[in-house]
Amino acid sequence: MLGALPEPRLATHASFAGLDHGLAIYFPAPHSYTGEPVLELQGHGGPVVVEALIGHGLALGARRARAGEFTQRAYLNGKLDLAQAEAVADLIDAASNAAARAALRSLQGEFSAQVQALDAALAAMRVRVEAAIDFSEDDVEVLAESALRVQLEDARQRLAALLASSTQGRLLTEGMTVVIAGAPNAGKSTLLNRLAGHEAAIVTPIPGTTRDILRERILIDGMPVHVLDTAGLRPLAGDVIEAEGMRRAQAAMTGADRILFVIDAAADPEAASYERERARLPAQVPVTLVLNKIDLMAPGAPPLLPPGAALTLSAHSGEGLQALREHLKQSVGLVDAAEGAVSARARHLEALKGSAECLAAAGEELERGGGRELIAEELRRAQQALGEIVGTESSDELLGRIFASFCIGK
Ligand code: GDP
Repeated sequence: MLGALPEPRLATHASFAGLDHGLAIYFPAPHSYTGEPVLELQGHGGPVVVEALIGHGLALGARRARAGEFTQRAYLNGKLDLAQAEAVADLIDAASNAAARAALRSLQGEFSAQVQALDAALAAMRVRVEAAIDFSEDDVEVLAESALRVQLEDARQRLAALLASSTQGRLLTEGMTVVIAGAPNAGKSTLLNRLAGHEAAIVTPIPGTTRDILRERILIDGMPVHVLDTAGLRPLAGDVIEAEGMRRAQAAMTGADRILFVIDAAADPEAASYERERARLPAQVPVTLVLNKIDLMAPGAPPLLPPGAALTLSAHSGEGLQALREHLKQSVGLVDAAEGAVSARARHLEALKGSAECLAAAGEELERGGGRELIAEELRRAQQALGEIVGTESSDELLGRIFASFCIGK
């Protein structure tokens, strides 16, 4: 590529096989991002020149990297643990400053360090519990029951704190999905446009304008909120396209974190549309009733809230919109200025919860005066769950899934 190997870690001006010229930097192993020897070329860019350089590299025997392969190799060579590798992807995909800060904290190892400290505490406890199984009290210093109780409680509290900060982090990276539902003309598309701050949906006074699902991503205090506007729900579908729209609306609602059911305060003050649809909404998804178009109500007259309605607003004027944003934040537990949050993913939270359950079971076993074997086993499982986060306990399949989500070349 260059005719000669540049001096290690020194920016060297060179011709790149006559195709471009620029700075070349050679990082001998193990002092590189991946831990392998790496040659970095800083050229002029531009798709044609870059493709020509890649073509030349391929002719020399190189191959194109797979998605996430650089980071995967860094992980396999012990440069990063799994949670840090995932934080690289989160940093690249960060949708807000708060999310980027949380990802950086995880990348710098803050999250991993806390997981590992907890893991070490569990290991120490386990050793002493298991020692008591194999040796008699005369041979080893057995952990007294009261001391074990204190240590277990301490581990539980640390795990709970870690779960709280990573829950905030997950909200900043993965956000929440909200479906806007309601009768045609209730003002769903207007509400979506209001939340998005631009004209995403076509708004007309003709029922059935929205035939497919519109997706918008908005930010509420750094948390990405995926807002889906569904086709107006109607008792009788007008045509084939609309019927398909309704089928998609049902599917979207099933996967959502929350449904905002919009009611037209002027046309439907008793929320009859909600009563009609209620049975068809997925039972497991929480619903917030939103009474829209309050600007049409007589001034001064308090809006007649249908039972269960949480919010009143005017998508038209914007009144009540801030309260809606606050409501969404609260509903998922996003605390203000999620400082100290570490970026985390759903799989991390599952592992932390799994670990917490094992610790709780160990505590119950202790209270019941159960055998030390059972307590030791719960501690082992709690540690195993933590190991899945940083990658000491991970299957090839999990690794494949994690790195496949990266963009090429990272
Ligand atoms: P969708 O069918 O539920 O998506 O309803 P649209 O968003 O298309 O709105 C239907 C009609 O209601 C449009 O003419 C909107 O301008 C109007 N509309 C929506 N929100 C409000 C509101 O808060 N106040 C008033 N006065 N009109 C609204």
